[in-house]
Amino acid sequence: MCQTRKFAERPWLEPGASPFIQVSGISKAFGQFSVLDKIDLQVYRGELFSLLGGSGCGKTTLLRILAGLEAPSSGRVLIDGVDVTNLPAHQRPVNMMFQSYALFPHMNVTQNVEYGLKRDGIDRREINRRTKDMLALLELSTFAQRKPHQLSGGQRQRVALARALVKRPKLLLLDEPLAALDKRLREQTQYELMRIQHQLGVTFLLVTHDQEEAMTLSSRIAVMDEGRLIQVGTPTDLYEYPDNRFIASFIGSVNLFEGHIVKQEHPHCAVLVPPNRSEFYVVDQRAFIPGQHVWIALRPEKISISKHPVAGNIANQLTGTIDSIAYTGSQSTYQIKTSTGDIVEVTQSNQNRPDSDQFVGEWNDIVHLQWEANDALLLMN
Ligand code: ATP
Repeated sequence: MCQTRKFAERPWLEPGASPFIQVSGISKAFGQFSVLDKIDLQVYRGELFSLLGGSGCGKTTLLRILAGLEAPSSGRVLIDGVDVTNLPAHQRPVNMMFQSYALFPHMNVTQNVEYGLKRDGIDRREINRRTKDMLALLELSTFAQRKPHQLSGGQRQRVALARALVKRPKLLLLDEPLAALDKRLREQTQYELMRIQHQLGVTFLLVTHDQEEAMTLSSRIAVMDEGRLIQVGTPTDLYEYPDNRFIASFIGSVNLFEGHIVKQEHPHCAVLVPPNRSEFYVVDQRAFIPGQHVWIALRPEKISISKHPVAGNIANQLTGTIDSIAYTGSQSTYQIKTSTGDIVEVTQSNQNRPDSDQFVGEWNDIVHLQWEANDALLLMN
C-alpha cells in the first residue's frame, strides 16, 4: 500500500488558500436517527478527496447533501464561495456518478455521453466536439456505437465517467465508482481515474469503503465513523501518524501494546507494558505524565524478524514462536505468539528468492523481533 499519486501542490497547506468546498456544521437526522453529526470539512480545488468509512457511517448521505439530493437538518455547504445549501441539485456546479452507473441501456455509448448536453440545449456542433474529445480521453472511441450490454464492466464505468465529465462540472461526486469491477480491473481503473482527474483538473470527491483504494487515489482522505469525521489527512498522514487506535487499525494493520509511561528522556519515552513488564522505547517529543495510559502502535512491516537474538543491549526486542504464516508472493506475514500469549504480526517483503540469506521461518520456530524507537507511535485513545 503506498501513495502512488504525487502532488505538486498541497493547497490545504497554503496560508490563506480558500477551500473549494466548505462544509460547516452539517448534521442530518432521519426521524430520531442521527446520521451525520456536525461535520466540518474543507476540500480544495483540484483535489481527489475521499470519504472513507464502514457501511452505514454516513458517507453517502454527506455526498448526497453536497449534490443537493438530500437536505441537511442543520449546517451549510459552500461550493466555490457560493452558499448552495438551499439550491436544488440542477443549479449546483456539480455532477454525480452513481454506483450503478445508471447508463441508458437502449442508447449507444455516444448517445449516453451526449445525453446531458442535449438536454441542456447545447449547440449540436459543440455537442459533437465535446463528446468526441471525451470519448478519446477515456479511450472509448472504438466503442462509440456499442450499447452498454456490449461493454465490459470497466468500459461501462468509463462511459459513466465520460457522461459525468462531458458537462464540465466544477465538482464531480463519485459514489463507490469502482465497486462493480473485479480486483484487477479496479486496480487498473484507479490509475485511469487519477490520470483523467489530473488531466482535467476537476475536483473529485469520492465515497469508498475500500481503504486501499482511498490510499491509492486520494490527495486526502476523511475517515468517518458513526456520522463523525475521525481524521482528515493525506494517505501518509493517516498511515504513519494516526490520531487514535480506530484510525491505526482501520488503515492497514497495526500491533497495539497497552501500557503506561514510566519515564521520558527526550526524545525517548519509556513505556511499561504488562503483563510481563516489558519496557519499550518510543521517540515522541510530546510531554507525557509518568503513569499516563498509552498504546504503542507498531506497523507489522517496521519489525525485523530473525532466528538469532540481536547482538548487544538493544531496546525493543521480543521473542516468540511462529504461530502462522501467510505467503502472498510479494510479502510474507508472520503471526508471532509471545510468552504472554499475545500475537504480534510481522510482515516481510520477499525481495529475494527463498534460497537467499533472507529470513524464512517455519511454523513453531523460535524467532526474535526488534524495532526502532522512532518506528513506533504513542496513541492516547
Ligand atoms: P454504505 O457504504 O453501506 O453505502 P454509507 O456510509 O454510505 O454506507 P449512508 O448511506 O450514508 O451510509 O447511511 C447512513 C445511515 O443512514 C444508515 O444507517 C442508513 O440506514 C441511514 N439512512 C440512509 N438514508 C436513509 C433514509 N432515507 N431514511 C432513513 N435512514 C436512512
